[in-house]
Amino acid sequence: MDSKRMEEMQQEVEKHIGQYKEGYFSPLAMMARLSEETGELAREINHYYGEKPKKETEQFKTLEQEMGDILFVLICFANSLHINLDEAFDLVMNKFRTRDVDRWTKIEEGDR
Ligand SMILES: [Mg+2]
Repeated sequence: MDSKRMEEMQQEVEKHIGQYKEGYFSPLAMMARLSEETGELAREINHYYGEKPKKETEQFKTLEQEMGDILFVLICFANSLHINLDEAFDLVMNKFRTRDVDRWTKIEEGDR
């Protein structure tokens, strides 16, 4: 499978949503969709790692599918607000490299 850059993913979603008159949802509806999909991921995690027993009638999806759903909704959300996710990613990584630089215990050569 080809690996895609975030910019390409944002463009692909833009093209997909652009086919429809309805376009993107409002920010509040998008926030609700993101929470919905996060809940679906939580359900899968609970199924695989939790104590909640699975009901026979329940259809379970994979973690991969649910993470894909979240990624899609997040990209829609970002596109609708004209947010570049490559830049958003750089912002968070830069925060980890500066503000949180001494927060975690580094693995030393001898630890490996
Ligand atoms: Mg889902």
